[in-house]
Order: sequence, then structure tokens, then C-alpha cells
Amino acid sequence: MARFTLPRDIYFGNGTLDELKTLKGKKAMVVVGGGSMKRFGFLDKVCDNLKEAGMEVQLFEGVEPDPSVETVMKGAKAMQDFQPDWIVAMGGGSPIDAAKAMWVFYEYPDTKFEDLITPFSFPTLRQKAKFLAIPSTSGTATEVTAFSVITDYEKGIKYPLADFNITPDVAIVDPELAQTMPAKLTAHTGMDALTHAIEAYVSTVASPFTDPLAIKAIQMVMQYLPSSYNGCKKSREQMHYAQCLAGMAFSNALLGIVHSMAHKTGAAFSTGHIPHGCANAIYLPYVIKYNAKDMRAAKRYEDIAHSLGLDGVEALCARIDDFNQRMGIPKTLKDFGIKEDEFKEKLSDISKNAIGDACTGSNPRIPTQEEMEKLFTAIYYGTEVDF
Ligand code: FE
Repeated sequence: MARFTLPRDIYFGNGTLDELKTLKGKKAMVVVGGGSMKRFGFLDKVCDNLKEAGMEVQLFEGVEPDPSVETVMKGAKAMQDFQPDWIVAMGGGSPIDAAKAMWVFYEYPDTKFEDLITPFSFPTLRQKAKFLAIPSTSGTATEVTAFSVITDYEKGIKYPLADFNITPDVAIVDPELAQTMPAKLTAHTGMDALTHAIEAYVSTVASPFTDPLAIKAIQMVMQYLPSSYNGCKKSREQMHYAQCLAGMAFSNALLGIVHSMAHKTGAAFSTGHIPHGCANAIYLPYVIKYNAKDMRAAKRYEDIAHSLGLDGVEALCARIDDFNQRMGIPKTLKDFGIKEDEFKEKLSDISKNAIGDACTGSNPRIPTQEEMEKLFTAIYYGTEVDF
């Protein structure tokens, strides 16, 4: 049996924050990250609109990037004290991801984090509250997905949580919030969205329900990302929708090894963090060439290329290379600044970890340890992928 799950309502367009005025409920807990939503006045607007809807509002502020288990538990405790019937999460991926996990511990305080690691094993939510998400960046699409990533800093582990119970009830996709993104963040999040759509389309669990969403998202990113990067308002708006469509696809079709590799290398090197979307952008063309050795996957990449008016898989990879170059994204891990010694030293471990990542299962090819090491090596030096 396959399942296709999305939020009940997705509001989109400039000014859709006003939809909050019509929300039915008594108490809303608003979960946000750093100061940017406050600085640009969006937080006040959200709170005012909820109050206008007749709700009592309480804030949970300061969710950090890559939110921790501690933050989740603190938020859950605040919810247990306040007893909201709506959880309203706004910002980049992190506050929304954190709020999804808080929701589980609010409704089931006796749950242990370890209980949630098995995908699609969550207790039934919506016993106490419903969930509304408002994204401020154009990439993760966590406002429509069944996923959340929480970090246990004590153990040094990232928990990717996955269950349709945490797919939000309502998403408000208001492009005004995304207009404030700096250019670099626009590039990285945009390439993350492109990777979501491409990986969803070639995934082994892609379906007729997810394919149209993935293809449309790919076409829109290809059309609007360069101008969005250069600050065009209209293109920013279209990118905000495109990333949401990509999210609707990958929440149901899952991802592939570009994400496996990005997850396990993001914090692996002493030279600094590799931003998630940047890692995806670097790895994507190499992984396409590796996956395209599989006949079914090759056909799927050709579909994508044809939908863009491109002639085959090579042309698709060349287009991605061109996007990366125009947005200042390096072509290799070496160019990113990873030291050769450290890369060689960690190659075996990052390869093993990437194979074990939750996203590997739906990739068209399941790499062996040797293949994954060759793939990383090709990405490090920028050499050909012919295996
Ligand atoms: Fe991603």
C-alpha cells in the first residue's frame, strides 16, 4: 500500500499571513527562531492576526539552527504549561522542525526520543493541537513534509524524524517572507529544492501522484532561480512556490543519496560546516551520472531533461554545473576548502555513514562501500564518474 499525504490547506500568495485572522481556536503557541522574523515585523503581524482571531497567544522564541533535543523538550514543556490547541511555527527550516518534535512530546510527554527514530512509528497526533507552518526560506519545504531533523549534541547524532503524523495541517506560503533572504541563502536553498525534486522524481517509490509535482518544481526552479538569486521579486515568489511543490513530492516519494551524502558530510570536516543546500548542489551532477548507469533511472533523468527542452542526461548535468557556477557554488569538495589529508582520513567513515543514511533506501542504486568512496573521491577532485 502506498500513501500520499499533504496538509489539509495550503494558502499561497502575498499577504496570506492575513489568513490567520480566520483560524478557529482558543490558544496558539507561536514557535520562532532568531530575530529576523521579529526584525522584519512578521512576528508581530502573526501574533496580531491570531489575537484578531480571538486567540490567546504565547511565544516560544530562540530556536537555534540545527535545533537540539533540549530545545525540543523546553518547547514541549512550555506547551504542556500553556495547553495550546494550535501550534504555529514560523521561520527557516529549524523552528518548524523543532516545533514538529515539540508537538509529539506535548501530546505524549512520556515518549523517549529513541522511540521516534523508527520511521513511520509515531503515536497518533492531533489529540491536543493542530499545526500551522509558515516558511521564511525557499528550500526545505518543511511546511508540507512529514520530516524533521533534530540534533542530539551530547551524542553527536542528527535524528531525522519521519512520520505523516507530523505533516502540518495548514501551510501559509507567503512569498513576502522570502523576499528578505540574502543572495547566498537564496542560491543554497534553491539548489536544495532542485535536489528534492530531482531525487523525488527518480526515487524508487516515486508515483503518478508525486511525478507531476516534481517535474513542475524542476521546471520552475530552472526558470526562476537565477533571477531570484539576482533579487527579482517576482522570481522570489515563484521560487517560494516551487520549493513547496518539491516538498509535496519528496515528502511522499522520499529522496536519494545526494541527501545521504550531504547529511553525513555537513558537519564532518574541521574546516567548517558545509551548508546543506550547498553540499547538495555540489554532489547532484556526480550522483546523476552514477545513478544513470541504472536503466530505469537513466530514463527518468531523460524525462526531466526533455521537460526542460534539454537533450539527455549530460545536458541536464551541464545545466546544473552552469547554475552552480553562476551562483558561486564550487564544483568540488577540494574547491570548497576541504583539506586533502582530512578528506582521505575520513573517506571510509563518511562513505559508510552515507550508505547507512535513511535516504539511501529509495535511491535508484544502492552503492557499495567501494562505489561510495569512488563517488566521494570523484567529487573531491572533480574527476569523471564512470562506474
Ligand atoms: Fe534537503
